[in-house]
Amino acid sequence: MKICVRDAFASDCYRKEYSFVLDNTQISDFPHGAVTDSVDVRAEISARDGIVSCALTVSADFSVICSRCAAEFTLPFRSFSVKQIKRRDDGEFEDVIFADGGFCFDIAKEARAQIYFEFPAKPLCREDCKGLCSVCGCDLNAGSCSCDIKTADPRLDVLRKLIDNN
Ligand SMILES: [Zn+2]
Ligand SMILES: [Zn+2]
Repeated sequence: MKICVRDAFASDCYRKEYSFVLDNTQISDFPHGAVTDSVDVRAEISARDGIVSCALTVSADFSVICSRCAAEFTLPFRSFSVKQIKRRDDGEFEDVIFADGGFCFDIAKEARAQIYFEFPAKPLCREDCKGLCSVCGCDLNAGSCSCDIKTADPRLDVLRKLIDNN
């Protein structure tokens, strides 16, 4: 979906809201999870003192895998950002949207970029997820096991050897 901002660039005081829905086929290549339903996108274009900006809100529920316990859960993703809309490349790329020669830009592309950029790299089913036991693999959220994790974690072997040598 294209948004045209010619009027915004021509005006000193401008405000217009757009809202639309991306269906999950439009973000099917996302590697970190699957959109459970659809992606709601709201864009508010405003112009003030010659600066045109886009306030973009993206929300969607994603089905993801917890990075600690591997359980599948629904992550409610909400993201808000404000970007300046520019008509030519002045070397600044951060928080900038470039409008094409016809004063238009693709808002679906911007929404997708925002999801890629803001999505948590290591989603957790809950803040204090205890993860899996590194010895027996049991889900420590569901109960505890009797494994001695301190002596069993292979990542600590290197450290332990260093201590032993000293
Ligand atoms: Zn978890
Ligand atoms: Zn265990």
